[in-house]
Amino acid sequence: MRIILLGPPGAGKGTQAQRLIDTYKVMQLSTGDMLRAAAAAGTSVGLQAKAVMDAGDLVSDDIVVEIIADRIEQSDCKNGFILDGFPRTLGQAEALEKMLARKALDLNAVVEMQVDDNQLIGRITGRYNCISCGAGYHDEHLRPNLDGVCDICGGIEFDRRSDDNAEAVLFRLKSYHEQTAPLLPFYQKRGKLFSVDGMVDIDEVTRQIKEVLVAG
Ligand code: AMP
Repeated sequence: MRIILLGPPGAGKGTQAQRLIDTYKVMQLSTGDMLRAAAAAGTSVGLQAKAVMDAGDLVSDDIVVEIIADRIEQSDCKNGFILDGFPRTLGQAEALEKMLARKALDLNAVVEMQVDDNQLIGRITGRYNCISCGAGYHDEHLRPNLDGVCDICGGIEFDRRSDDNAEAVLFRLKSYHEQTAPLLPFYQKRGKLFSVDGMVDIDEVTRQIKEVLVAG
């Protein structure tokens, strides 16, 4: 199974990818996570990317295409993958198409998660994670049972992504509409595009995605 989850920042791509990997026994490939890991490790690519990410801009196609090209060659991707946050530009989509064609592979489906911009800003600026286990929370919609203590691991330290501030979010939304939204007609033309309502509750979004994957 090879799937792209497409949608604006805060649409819930990462959350849904996490839920789908067990069902389909595939890897979640998040370019955002890979770039953050590279930045935390202090690699030259990571440090270069960090300044761009903090401003809410897109990292260059060359960098992310190379990261994905290397990653899908690895043996843990042989059952397939869920791409979360890639491709984000037409150049990346074309590069992915060539990469897969060289391996005589194709995408099963591109799932667009539709969410209104005005919901996204609140979703993103309120989110935070447990430092120990990565569990995600939200200031309003998903608080831990006991304030300041992670429900999953009991951790008491949390952090927020440096690009989850209001200013960077506006820039990320602008990038989405200008550079990523053109991928919708690109995949529509190839008969791969399916859309789900990303504003309903998390379980219902998962149900809708699984339904379109049966059709795809
Ligand atoms: P995400 O975790 O998907 O929200 O990505 C966080 C940031 O990483 C984005 O705002 C971009 O700066 C960068 N990034 C992640 N994926 C890509 C991509 N496919 N192309 C360009 N930049 C990316």
